[in-house]
Amino acid sequence: MITISEALDHVCHWSGPLEPELRTLADARGCTLAEDIVSDMDSPPFHKALMDGYAVRSADLVSGRAQLKRVEVLPAGSVARWPVNNGETTQIMTGAPLPSGADAVVKVEDTAFDADTQTALIDTRPVQPGQNVLHRGAAVRSGEHILSAGCRLDAQHLGTLAEFGRPSISVLKRPNVAVLATGDELVPVHQTPGPGQIRNSNEAMLVAQIQRAGARPIPLGIAADTRLELGERIAVGLEHEILILSGGVSAGQLDLVPEVLEAAGVDKVFHKVKIKPGKPVWFGVRPGVGGQPNCLVFGLPGNPVSSMVGFELLARTAISRMSGVQPGTPRPLSARLSQDHLAGGDRPTYHPAHLSWSSDGWIVQPVRWVGSADLRATVEANAMIGFPAIQTTIPAGALVDVIPWDTCVTSGAT
Ligand code: AMP
Ligand code: MG
Repeated sequence: MITISEALDHVCHWSGPLEPELRTLADARGCTLAEDIVSDMDSPPFHKALMDGYAVRSADLVSGRAQLKRVEVLPAGSVARWPVNNGETTQIMTGAPLPSGADAVVKVEDTAFDADTQTALIDTRPVQPGQNVLHRGAAVRSGEHILSAGCRLDAQHLGTLAEFGRPSISVLKRPNVAVLATGDELVPVHQTPGPGQIRNSNEAMLVAQIQRAGARPIPLGIAADTRLELGERIAVGLEHEILILSGGVSAGQLDLVPEVLEAAGVDKVFHKVKIKPGKPVWFGVRPGVGGQPNCLVFGLPGNPVSSMVGFELLARTAISRMSGVQPGTPRPLSARLSQDHLAGGDRPTYHPAHLSWSSDGWIVQPVRWVGSADLRATVEANAMIGFPAIQTTIPAGALVDVIPWDTCVTSGAT
C-alpha cells in the first residue's frame, strides 16, 4: 500500500494544465490567466485632478493666497476649452483632466467663490507643482507588462483587466467532473428508502466539493452494482476530463468498479492508500492520443466521509493542477489543538475538525465523530486535522497540521 505523499505524486504526474479558452471577465474569477497582459495606454491616460477644487498655476500661489479669475467649470469626463493663464483658475472635479497651464489643484475647502466677480479666493498653504494631481502614466506606462500568464484571477486582477480594456481573456479551461454513485442500496434523495436502502448523499456532497474546487460538476446519478450498468454509466463519465465514482472499490464481492474501469480501458495507477478514512481509494487514467490522459478516474470508497476525504486530498489536487494552480496539493496550516485528543491508528488519520482564529492564532477542535459513515459530524467541521499514524494522546495546545476545506476559512485572518 502506498503513502499519501506517493499517491499525490502519482496524481500530480498525471494532471497537467488543460488548454486555454476565452472567458469574459464576469466568468473568470478563480481561473488561471493563460496570456501575458501588456498595457495599451498610460494610466491615468491624462494628468488627473485628485480633488474637487480649483486647477491653478502653482507660481500664482507661492504664498498660498490669491484671488483668481474663474475661466471655466470642468466636470469629470470633459476636457478644458480654455487654458489657465496667470491670475486665472478653472473649477475642477475629481477625475477631470487638468487644463493646460495649470499644474496643481487646490481643494475646494480652501477656497471661496464670489459669484459677482467670478473669482475664487484661495487661502491655503504654499502650493507645490503637482499637488493633488496624478500625472499621466504615473501608475502604468503604455506597453508596460501588467499581468503574467499563470496568475490566478481575483477581483483585483479582473478590475485591472477592465481598466486596460480587456473584456475577455485567455484562461486555462477548468475540468468538467462527472460524478457517479454506485451501489444497489442507493436511492435518489427525493425517495424514501425501503428496507436496507439509503439515500445517495455522496452525489450532493461531491458536487459541492467540485464546485468549491472551481470545476464544473456533471452528476450522473446512481449505478447498480452490475457489470452491465456500471460499464454503461462509466462510458458516459469517461467523456469528461475527470470521472469520480463513489462506492464499489473495496473488497466485497460486488465491489466491481476497478474491474469494470479496467475493462473500459482505464489503466490503474494505484489502489489503496495508507490513510484513514479512505484506504480503498482507486486512481487510474484513460490514455488518449500521444500518451496524454483523456480522463482521470477516482474511485472513492462509498462511506461518505471516506469519499469526502479522498476527494479533498486527491481529486481536488487533480482539479487544481488541471486549472493551472501550482503546486495544487493540499497545503496544511499549523493550528493548536483545543483539547487533548487520543490519536489512534496504523495510518495517518484525517479527522473532521473546526478551525477558528483566536487571539492566540489558529485553534482547531476535533469534532465528535464515530467514523466514516458519520457524515452528520462534518456539519460542525470546516477542516480536517491530519494526525500521524501514532497511538498516543496529543495534548491540548500541541501544534497539528490542518487542511481547511474552503480557503475562505483562512483568508483575511493573517
Ligand atoms: P462501498 O464503498 O460501496 O462498500 O460502500 C461503503 C458504505 O458506504 C456502505 O455502507 C454504503 O451503503 C455507503 N455508501 C455507498 N455509496 C453511498 C452514497 N452514494 N451515499 C451514501 N452512502 C453510500
Ligand atoms: Mg457498494
